[in-house]
Amino acid sequence: MKVEALKCRICGKEFPPEALYTCDNCFGPLEVKYNWDWIHDHASKEKIVKGPNSLWRYRDFLPVSGEPVDLGAGFTRFIRATNLGEKLGLKNLFLIDDSVNPTYSFKDRVVSVAVTKAKEFGMKAVGCASTGNLAGSLSAHAAKANLPAYIFMPRGVEKGKIIQALVHGAKVIEVDGTYDDANRVATEVAEEHPDWGFVNINLRPYYAEGSKTLAYEAAERLGWNLPDQVVVPMASGALLCAIYRGFRDLERVGFVEERDVVFNGTQPRGLPISRAVKYGGGIEPVKKMDTLVHSLAIGNPADGIFAKDIIEKTGGFAEDPADEDTIEAVKLLAKTEGIFTELAGGVTVAGLKRLVDDGRIDRSDVVVVYLTGNGLKTGEAVLDHLDDTIKIKPRLEEFEEVVA
Ligand SMILES: *Cc1c(COP(=O)(O)O)cnc(C)c1O
Ligand SMILES: [Zn+2]
Repeated sequence: MKVEALKCRICGKEFPPEALYTCDNCFGPLEVKYNWDWIHDHASKEKIVKGPNSLWRYRDFLPVSGEPVDLGAGFTRFIRATNLGEKLGLKNLFLIDDSVNPTYSFKDRVVSVAVTKAKEFGMKAVGCASTGNLAGSLSAHAAKANLPAYIFMPRGVEKGKIIQALVHGAKVIEVDGTYDDANRVATEVAEEHPDWGFVNINLRPYYAEGSKTLAYEAAERLGWNLPDQVVVPMASGALLCAIYRGFRDLERVGFVEERDVVFNGTQPRGLPISRAVKYGGGIEPVKKMDTLVHSLAIGNPADGIFAKDIIEKTGGFAEDPADEDTIEAVKLLAKTEGIFTELAGGVTVAGLKRLVDDGRIDRSDVVVVYLTGNGLKTGEAVLDHLDDTIKIKPRLEEFEEVVA
């Protein structure tokens, strides 16, 4: 079998590959341990290239065996960003544009894998705690899978994201508190209902694996080569850790030559992972988060220590742009590459700019930047920073007058 066990990321204790997520020995989080002989025997580049134009082209590397719950997530646009590169001073800048996944964020990758696993386990419902994007994605995939969905959101999630969760028929529970409060309630509910699959709680070890496909895609699109540097937005830090594992997987099966990819992370100002990397110290949870970038606002990041460790051991850095710089970066990307990303993408592009300006990324480095969500979901946040529309009566002369 492809999945051998679940393994504690702290003490290494192994568990059967069930819906488990914490170690009973040290309370550490669990991760999937694969049978690499199985993967060696089954996976090949040829098979991948002939596979579907979705993340399921990499299914030999994913911890599921059932029929995928598939809305077509993954294998999104891989763009050589010459205009933005020129503005920032980079010759080899590439973007993975997950703003155009089926529900308009990268969360479709993790959710497609986790809901497939929930089906495989015969679970009766699915759920999650969400800052917004996960809600929309889970709600849509649950609809496709014919499963009820329970979604726990904090206060202050953007309207567009709430509408998206509701339209697919999920039960949306707005918790009067932060994401971390919503997550705590959802965890209690998950404990109470063991036959419900909470994708980022009791299915988290499987869920996280969906993000590895963002590493596979970068390598495949670069002609089976690894980049010099990556820039990754961080909320819990799970995405950054998964991309790291994804590159290691490809080295392990010999699909790419080994390369020490430098990992850079970005978070809005004041959040724990960037703060710890940039200013020193450990991952200190924060209670009050003062940022418009709700999708990255996790005060107590589950993968924080692991993400920090990867950034530091690969010689990368973390940036923490202020919201004004984030909004400017959303506009810069939109005006140079024609991509309207949500604020998380602005954080990433603003972070990238800082890394280049400070000489941490070289002009000729091959850089892959991950854009993880769509701007139309958080449009209100940038509206006040755009030009006003030009209002005229329906007459040619008025038009000519205002543009003169
Ligand atoms: C969830 C999310 C991320 C990353 O989340 P992690 O918890 O670090 O895996 C990045 N960008 C967007 C837009 C997201 O919704
Ligand atoms: Zn342990």
